[in-house]
Amino acid sequence: MLRLALHWQILIGMVAGAALGVGLNVTAGSASVTLEENLPAGLEQVEIDSSTSRTEIRTTDDAERLTTYVIDPSSPDPDAFRSLGSFGEAHPALARIYLEHGRSPAQRYGEWFRRLGGLFLRMLQMVAVPLIVTSLITGIMGLGGSGTIGRMFQRTLLYYLSTSMLAILTGLLAVNIFRPGLRGGVIAPAAPPQVTEASSLGEILFNQLEAMIPSNPAAALVEPNFLSIIAFTLAFAIFALRVGGATAERVRTAAETGFAVMMALTTAIIHLAPLGVFFLMLYVTSTQGAAVFASLGWYMLAVISALAFHALITLPLIIRLVAKRSPWLFARAMSPALLTAFSSASSNGTLPLTLASAEERAGISNRTSSFVLPLGATINMDGTALYEAVAVLFIAQLHFGQNLELTQQLIVAFTALLASVGAAGIPHAGLVMMVIILQAVNLPVEMQGIILAVDRVLDMSRTTVNVWSDSCGCAVVDALETRTSGSPA
Ligand code: ASP
Repeated sequence: MLRLALHWQILIGMVAGAALGVGLNVTAGSASVTLEENLPAGLEQVEIDSSTSRTEIRTTDDAERLTTYVIDPSSPDPDAFRSLGSFGEAHPALARIYLEHGRSPAQRYGEWFRRLGGLFLRMLQMVAVPLIVTSLITGIMGLGGSGTIGRMFQRTLLYYLSTSMLAILTGLLAVNIFRPGLRGGVIAPAAPPQVTEASSLGEILFNQLEAMIPSNPAAALVEPNFLSIIAFTLAFAIFALRVGGATAERVRTAAETGFAVMMALTTAIIHLAPLGVFFLMLYVTSTQGAAVFASLGWYMLAVISALAFHALITLPLIIRLVAKRSPWLFARAMSPALLTAFSSASSNGTLPLTLASAEERAGISNRTSSFVLPLGATINMDGTALYEAVAVLFIAQLHFGQNLELTQQLIVAFTALLASVGAAGIPHAGLVMMVIILQAVNLPVEMQGIILAVDRVLDMSRTTVNVWSDSCGCAVVDALETRTSGSPA
C-alpha cells in the first residue's frame, strides 16, 4: 500500500483541517436566537446574534428597557467587550446563557475540535519533562570534560543572539518599507481594551535569573518551569561528571535507559501528528473563519514577509555556509516539528517533536540537540523578536501618524530582543511581553487591542520560525563541534 511520508501526511491534515473549518464557518458560523424562558430575574427577553467576529446580546427587562451588549475584539466602540472572558466577568449570568444557547454551530463544534486536537498536545506535554531531563543528562554525560560544555555554551549563545538580532533588523526593514500603520483602513480603538499586565523589563530579567536557581527542583518539575529544569539538570549532570568513576557511569546508564524509552514513546506519538494538526486547524478556522487569515492585511503582510525572509533566506544561508548542509533536506527532516509548531503555536509544546526530528530524522547528535533545543525553546525566539519589533512600530505609526525616529527604533530593537528571551514558549506569550516595549517608547498599551484579532495566525507563523531557528542552531553547533573535535559531536 502506498504510504505517504509523514510530513506530507501532516501537511494534508493541516490543509484539510483549514478547508473544512472555513467551510463550516461559512455555512454554520452565525446564529440567532430569542429566549423568553428561564432567564435571570428581571429579564423578559434575551436575543443573541452571533457571528465569527461579532456577537450582539440584547436584553429587554420588566420595564421594557432594551440594553445591547457587543462582544467584538476589533470594534472601535468604547463600550464593546473585547472578549467573551471580559464580558463574562462583567455579566456572568448572560455569558452562561450565551454559552449554552447563543453560540453558532461552528463555535460549538469548534470547542470539540479544540479538545480533540488538545489530546495530541497533551501527549506531547506528557513526554516533555522526562524527555528533556533524560536527554539533557545523556547529552552532557557524553560530552566528557567541562571544557567542551563551556565551548558549546558559548557557540550556542552566540548563535541565539546573532540570529535574533538579524530577525529584528529584518522586521524593522519590513515595517519601514510596508508602512502598514500609515496606509489607513485600520481604526484605532477609542477606549482602552483589557490587556494583560506585565512588569518592568528589569523585573522580568531578574525573574528569569531567579528561575535558573529553583528553590525546589521537584516543584520546578511539577510546574513545569523549563528554565529551572534545564538549569538544575545541567548542574546535576556536570557534577555527576565531576564525581566521575562508578557514580558517573550509573548516572549515565540510568539516563540512557530512560531516554531510550522516552524517545520510543515520542516517536510513536509523532505518528498521530497528522490527526492532531487536522483538529487544531479545524478548531482555529471553524471558530474564526477565513478572516483569521485576511484582516489587517498590510500589517500581516509586513510580519509574514519579514518572517518568510528570515526563515527562507537568512537561516538557510547560515545552514548552507556554516553547517554545510542542504537547507531543503534539513527542513524536510524537521518538518514534523515545524508543522506542529505552526498549528499549536507553542515552542515548548513542540519540543519533544523537535528533539525527536533532529535526532532521528536529521541525524544530529543527542549531545548537541539535548543541549541546544530545550534551551532554545525557552530563550531563543527569532520569530517572536521580529514580530514584537514590527507590531510595536506598526502601533507607533498608527498612533503618531509617522514612523518612530531611528533612536526610538533602536530602543524597540533592544527591548524586543530581551522580551523574546523572556517570553514563554506558549501561545500568545509574545502579546504579554509586548507591553514592556510599548512602555519603553511611551506608547499607550491599549493600542494592542487592534492587533489582538489577528494574533493567532501571526503567533502560529512566528512560533514556526522560533522552532526553525532552534533547529538551525542545533545543526550549526553540531557542525562546529564536529569540526573542532574531529568526530561527530
Ligand atoms: N507562541 C510563541 C512560541 O511558543 C511565543 C510567542 O507568543 O511569540 O514560541
